Amino acid sequence: MSAPLLRAEGLTAGYGAAPVLHDVDLDVVAGSITAVLGANGAGKTTLLRTLSGLLPATGGRVALDGRDLRGVRVEEMVRRGVAHVPEGRGVVTELTVDENLRLGGLWRRDRADARRALGEVYELFEPLARRRTFHGHQLSGGERQMLALGRALVGRPRLLLLDEPSLGLAPRVTAQIMRLLRTLRDRSGLTVLLVEQNVRGALAIADEAVVLSLGRVVTRGTSIDEDLRHAYLGF
Ligand code: ATP
Repeated sequence: MSAPLLRAEGLTAGYGAAPVLHDVDLDVVAGSITAVLGANGAGKTTLLRTLSGLLPATGGRVALDGRDLRGVRVEEMVRRGVAHVPEGRGVVTELTVDENLRLGGLWRRDRADARRALGEVYELFEPLARRRTFHGHQLSGGERQMLALGRALVGRPRLLLLDEPSLGLAPRVTAQIMRLLRTLRDRSGLTVLLVEQNVRGALAIADEAVVLSLGRVVTRGTSIDEDLRHAYLGF
């Protein structure tokens, strides 16, 4: 089996003195989708924030392609190919759709490819193409979600950390986003770590699932057996 793109070992993190994540081990295979599942407060968001470097780990290590990410600043994480789309979307509401998307490629040296990536995002998200000059605050929730995801994609990430992309979206739009993630994995080999409350939707596209409870990994695998689903996922 190939080495994982992302590996976390014994990861511990939290806010202040009390740890939220306890000794989390995680391997994410390149070109796969991994769903991170668990009840509210299980530590899913904290895990993504720790992996992307927004929140410093208090113990353990994270490596991308075998290279330790300890102490790597957020800008450098982006250069190494890690894109984090946080819950709540993070769109700059005073900027236009086009300006928001261009922000995602500002740091890139290959300007020609940044332009190509921008064109591809407009092809993928047709509603954004029709609203290029709209400001963030004029968009619907679904369009903002597309914009946040599109902005990450303009940076051509290798690893996408995606926090609750379906939050507040109509089921039709959620299904569209899930299909898009599958397409990006299959066509471009994108690796995705997906936090989702929409467990069925996430499991439908995931190659692997990890279930967190109280900051610990309680199970992982390609399918979640019925007892565990009842115990941790409520269905
Ligand atoms: P949700 O689905 O509700 O977003 P989650 O699984 O993503 O839940 P986290 O948001 O990671 O869980 O929260 C895990 C724990 O950390 C919770 O007990 C929460 O109260 C606590 N927590 C989260 N953010 C902070 C913060 N900024 N300061 C202090 N405690 C926090």
